[in-house]
Amino acid sequence: MSSTSIRHDWQREEISALFDIPFNQLLARAHAVHAQYHDPDAVQVSTLLSIKTGGCPEDCAYCPQAQRYQTGVQAEKLMSTEAVLAQARAARAAGASRFCMGAAWRNPKDRDVEKVAEMISAVRGLGMETCATLGMLSSSQAQTLKSAGLDYYNHNLDTAPEHYDQIISTRSIDDRLQTLDHVREAGLKTCCGGIVGLGETREQRAGLLQALANLPQHPDSVPINQLVQVPGTPLHGTEALDPFEFVRTIAVARLLMPASMVRLSAGREQMNEGIQALCFFAGANSIFYGDKLLTTGNPQAAADRALFRRLDLHPLEIQEVSETVHASILETAQACEHPPA
Ligand code: SF4
Repeated sequence: MSSTSIRHDWQREEISALFDIPFNQLLARAHAVHAQYHDPDAVQVSTLLSIKTGGCPEDCAYCPQAQRYQTGVQAEKLMSTEAVLAQARAARAAGASRFCMGAAWRNPKDRDVEKVAEMISAVRGLGMETCATLGMLSSSQAQTLKSAGLDYYNHNLDTAPEHYDQIISTRSIDDRLQTLDHVREAGLKTCCGGIVGLGETREQRAGLLQALANLPQHPDSVPINQLVQVPGTPLHGTEALDPFEFVRTIAVARLLMPASMVRLSAGREQMNEGIQALCFFAGANSIFYGDKLLTTGNPQAAADRALFRRLDLHPLEIQEVSETVHASILETAQACEHPPA
């Protein structure tokens, strides 16, 4: 079977072998697959807004929003629909086609979901795609969000199954998989990736990508986050991941999930422009745009626009996104974008 077909039966050894390909050869292969499935000069741009910050009861070791860690993040109440709408208008004016709303909940109460549903309808009314990340959902909550017009639900697998209990003890990876089932069953598109640089081994990075690629449908969007080390969190002081290993991870994600949008997410501010350019070449075709990524910084929108000009990249329009996603469905598929996301 060719490496460019859509598969859900990836073996760990095959993925480890991809990681071991000499760097230039790996990038060349990944780019060829990228160009086969996507416009290699188009990048989808999303804006992420934290609609409810901090005070989370979970213990994700990377996250400054966990209430048990002293990180200086103040717990806030859920924003009003009007305030969210104002931010969405600003994001649209800055060129974002998708607006993601993140709330630091373990799982929302039904009345929270009703309020978020109102926000989703309002943002959808601006002509933007919508994405939410609210923690674990019941089946009926996923359906409520779908009825409100939600396009995507973000729910990351965090890290490899065998590394999960080193990072989070308040839930299991099976909890995550169950919410993803509810989201798919409700007809929502899935945004699902993970975080690297958590002190995991390359083998465990392969394990994370294996878990993602062998889901019943490939996620429509696959955010690959790099740990943003926040003082006060248990992972602060973890040895930093080699930036080229991050690029390799992007390339392998592209090879395993050829039709998905692979997103550079948290940690982009810590990457220089050369590394970002290598990531785009290796198959990344989605970024977060704007000044703030939940509670951690994100490169300024103007700097992103300048980088796009220098690399001859252009933002993907909503119509193009829909067509790409539709094509992928035809061919086959930190909350928590929360990680300091
Ligand atoms: S990543 Fe999400 S679930 Fe985990 S502590 Fe942060 S806000 Fe809570």
